[in-house]
Amino acid sequence: MTRYAIIGFGCAGYCAARTIRENDPDGVISVYSEHGYAPYNPMLTTYYTAGKIPFEGLFPFGDLQKITEDLKLDMHASRTVSRISAKDKEIILTDGEHVPFDKLLIASGARAFAPRFEGLDPAEAFYMRTADDAIKLKEALDHHTYRSALVVGASMVGIKVVELLNNRGIHTVLADMAPRIFPLAAYPDVSKEIEDRITRKGIELALGSAMQKAEKTSEGWACHMSDGKVLNCDLIVLCIGTRANTQFVDPEEIKVNRAIVVDENMCTSCPDIFAAGDCCEGTELQSQNTMIIGLWANAAHQGTTAGANMSGKPASFNGNFLHNITHFMDMDFIGFGDNRITGEVLTSGNIHDGLYVEAVMKDGHLAGVNILDNYRISGAIKNYLYRIMENKTADISPMQRGILIKEGLRPSFIEKLEGIVR
Ligand SMILES: Cc1cc2nc3c(=O)[nH]c(=O)nc-3n(C[C@H](O)[C@H](O)[C@H](O)COP(=O)(O)OP(=O)(O)OC[C@H]3O[C@@H](n4cnc5c(N)ncnc54)[C@H](O)[C@@H]3O)c2cc1C
Repeated sequence: MTRYAIIGFGCAGYCAARTIRENDPDGVISVYSEHGYAPYNPMLTTYYTAGKIPFEGLFPFGDLQKITEDLKLDMHASRTVSRISAKDKEIILTDGEHVPFDKLLIASGARAFAPRFEGLDPAEAFYMRTADDAIKLKEALDHHTYRSALVVGASMVGIKVVELLNNRGIHTVLADMAPRIFPLAAYPDVSKEIEDRITRKGIELALGSAMQKAEKTSEGWACHMSDGKVLNCDLIVLCIGTRANTQFVDPEEIKVNRAIVVDENMCTSCPDIFAAGDCCEGTELQSQNTMIIGLWANAAHQGTTAGANMSGKPASFNGNFLHNITHFMDMDFIGFGDNRITGEVLTSGNIHDGLYVEAVMKDGHLAGVNILDNYRISGAIKNYLYRIMENKTADISPMQRGILIKEGLRPSFIEKLEGIVR
């Protein structure tokens, strides 16, 4: 009987456990999760804090007890793994117990990155990654009256936090050391348009300026920024980024870059040890390098692939590319591909009103796209870009073309996206 161990029970861990159980009715699947919740969706945390969904809405796969019974899991909730010995094929828990395994999946996800700022005890700031982060911010907002907030990090997470604070009538400043919003996903003029729109909604921007230290005042906080400004607020939320949870992995045994390096089977550099989700680096199709792709669907694919290979059903996941699809403050922003790639720029529509598409062509092929205010074309464009990255000769299928035209793109623009020059 195979002994499977899974570290972390988020999307990747759950999808792996489900797949293992489908393929192996008898194996022992031991799951170690550092909290007592069912697998939850971190992208819904801001919706819970905003009061848009109830707490139960965070759990897409249902209740922990039911999952444990349905998948016949040996569940170890609130038990944290402190070390893995790949050589001895065992995991070591924080309470000192050593547990042997035959096949191991590391699905430990990522944590909010919280650098030390002089004057700010990390416990006094707020973050947005875990269910507990969401509870902590919601309780604070429900029980205190805040007048002003500083959100550090002009990322997809940062903007959702800004939105929920603004909706509560809290004057909010969004700061980032980068000079523009969504620096890793948006093209400069799209960043500028989004900045203009959110400024009109009352958000103050402090871009190109990094927080350096915070001082407690009688009113709250005085935050000293690198451009010399002092921002006063009574709430600080740090959305600066994430770090893969790999601290219990010995990089001498298992290859780790920014995260655990995996191949297309989700196998690490050690046989019988797999990794999936935000704790790992799989292939990024555009660069063909390994990279963290911190997306829910990616964690699901990787977890499912790992679970299949662990339970003897060969499977592979050839990779993914950078993309973001987000809705905030009455607008949709979609970014596909590496926004640092430069080339011929094609645009369609008016950036200030209605569907706007900005595309970058490199060597005759679509290399990246920004879309404003229409999520309905995202599937067709994403699918096309995915196929180009797999096979340079791909074209937009008749069905996808129909969707793009229906949503307002001209046939001549679609041809240009396909690299057809007339
Ligand atoms: C606010 C926010 C918005 C997001 N928006 C989007 C979006 O719009 N679209 C999208 O696709 N993705 C989005 N994401 C990202 C997406 O949620 C993640 O990519 C995905 O949930 C990763 O799943 P995972 O299973 O790899 O990791 P996680 O969900 O992080 O699960 C890992 C689990 O491992 C546990 N763990 C860690 N270390 C240990 C240990 N030593 N021992 C035991 N257990 C451990 C953790 O407690 C955690 O429960 C968002 C994330 C956030 C936070």
